[in-house]
Amino acid sequence: MTEFTFADTVVPIGATDDDTHEVFNTPPVLAGYNAFDADPALGEALHREGAGWAEERARDLGALVGDPSIQTKARLANRNLPEFRGYDSYGQRVDVVEYHPAYHDLMGEAMKAEVHSLAWTASEPGGHVARAALSYLWNQIENGVGCPTGMAYAAVPILKSQAETRPWAEKMLGTTYDPRLVPIEDKTAITVATTLTEKHGGCDLRANSTGAKPVNGRGAGQPYLLTGHKWFCSAPMGDIWLTTALTENGPGLFAAPRFTPDGSRNRMFIQALKDKCGNRSNASSHIEYRDAWAVLLCDEGDGVRTAMTDVHFTRLDFAVGSTGLMRQALSLALHYGRHRLAFQRSLVDLPLMSNVLADLALDVEGSLALAMRVARALDEAGGDETAAKLARIGPPIAKYWSCKRAPAFIAETLECMGGNGYIEDAPMARLYREAPLNGIWEGSSNMVALDVLRADERDPGCLEAVFDEVNAARSGNAALGAACDALKDAFADKGKREFLSRLLVEKLAHLWQAALLIQNAPTAIADAFITTRIVAGHGPLFGRLDDSRAVSELLQRALAT
Ligand SMILES: Cc1cc2nc3c(=O)[nH]c(=O)nc-3n(C[C@H](O)[C@H](O)[C@H](O)COP(=O)(O)OP(=O)(O)OC[C@H]3O[C@@H](n4cnc5c(N)ncnc54)[C@H](O)[C@@H]3O)c2cc1C
Repeated sequence: MTEFTFADTVVPIGATDDDTHEVFNTPPVLAGYNAFDADPALGEALHREGAGWAEERARDLGALVGDPSIQTKARLANRNLPEFRGYDSYGQRVDVVEYHPAYHDLMGEAMKAEVHSLAWTASEPGGHVARAALSYLWNQIENGVGCPTGMAYAAVPILKSQAETRPWAEKMLGTTYDPRLVPIEDKTAITVATTLTEKHGGCDLRANSTGAKPVNGRGAGQPYLLTGHKWFCSAPMGDIWLTTALTENGPGLFAAPRFTPDGSRNRMFIQALKDKCGNRSNASSHIEYRDAWAVLLCDEGDGVRTAMTDVHFTRLDFAVGSTGLMRQALSLALHYGRHRLAFQRSLVDLPLMSNVLADLALDVEGSLALAMRVARALDEAGGDETAAKLARIGPPIAKYWSCKRAPAFIAETLECMGGNGYIEDAPMARLYREAPLNGIWEGSSNMVALDVLRADERDPGCLEAVFDEVNAARSGNAALGAACDALKDAFADKGKREFLSRLLVEKLAHLWQAALLIQNAPTAIADAFITTRIVAGHGPLFGRLDDSRAVSELLQRALAT
């Protein structure tokens, strides 16, 4: 691994000759802690949802969250942006993205920890839950790497579905990161990019114009040649690009490797990298296919539906990712508040600030409980009809709310740190710029809210399965019961529900979170959640607890260091 020094963690020099003042009341950098041990809600959820066996793995990754050298790499990977090199020195097209060594080191750590693969390699039940815990922790380290690891997680089942691409799926489960641009068979492990969005639109994939012509025969497993473009292709150094393209019989989903079977470079070209608001360590590009060789992964015409089976996993991963992002932001704000004095008291002890921080902590409790519950549904979907229903509808519900919540949440945690929060080093500013992205990709918020309705329409029983979970917790809780009945009626009004779908899905997420907290969290926390989110209907701002009973327990659980 590349070694870096970290200015924030070396012993401070103290006052120097040119200082005019004493330096005091500056919080220490949040480092040297274990983000798994500091997060009782995570440990509880891991065991409750069936993956207690993964505790040591999660603890190992939790140690990396607090490791100063890893924190330095995350900073450097986001300050030293990937660069596209289209040609070699004398004009041969090469199409490589050059990353800072810190990015490669982080990729190596993530793959070694099986952030990308554990759901599929676990020898015990609970692989999705265990993998969700790792992804939640990884998202507290660095989010750019979360893109290729999440795409690999999602792509494995689709690549396994065809004999021709099954060996690629096996290579994707490898744990020794191999950044070389060489044929798949020469690599220890590979990564994947998923590129669907075209210039004229990303939400309506059926409007794609990239075309596919069969090389020999037609159908799943057969090679085709692709011609066209994609306007967004993140992590383009992926060894395979998963992509939609139009066949004679409608869209197909294809896997295009960077090298063709004869060992030559495939005719797939990176055009340029995007200059992004956040997620800066991860390259995102636009690309062109010019008769690029690719394998069809489904029947002709079935491409969008098949792509959605991939996107379904990444939707859960972004719900998990945004929860991790919020968790990291809360840890930074809380740590700062514990160590910073104002008006002779720690910030956390000031009544109003304690209300803000506790209110923030409620969102993390709720989002984490829901994401882990949904992950268990994925684990159990194969053998249990109710779990299959929850596995269908759960990812869009969890993604909608957690990804939508994260930007407002992080704006608040940033302000909890005053001016220091707004400065890049914190690293709150990085989290702030990252936060909106999970609401956009893999289904923007509107599309994901509409997907909840689609699940109800096309897979009857999905919505009822969620209401059954809520009902199981309503006994003795009149507010939960009344809200549940009202929401059922609102969903039943088919004339209005598309127009209202954001509101309905937000309420559904809150009800499900409340039910999980009633059953599993300390009573004071569940009560505070219901008062603020179900009875009062939580607005966009924080600091809305109307009494302080839950505060100390919430803040203790939020960062148990
Ligand atoms: C940093 C970054 C990286 C990305 N990486 C990738 C990648 O690797 N691969 C990839 O394929 N894509 C990628 N994307 C693209 C992303 O998935 C799309 O931006 C997203 O799917 C939305 O598509 P669009 O931008 O074309 O928006 P549009 O389709 O133009 O939609 C614009 C808005 O209209 C809303 N809308 C659309 N239809 C409806 C409707 N029926 N009802 C209500 N509202 C509607 C949408 O919610 C959205 O808010 C990336 C995007 C970003 C920002």
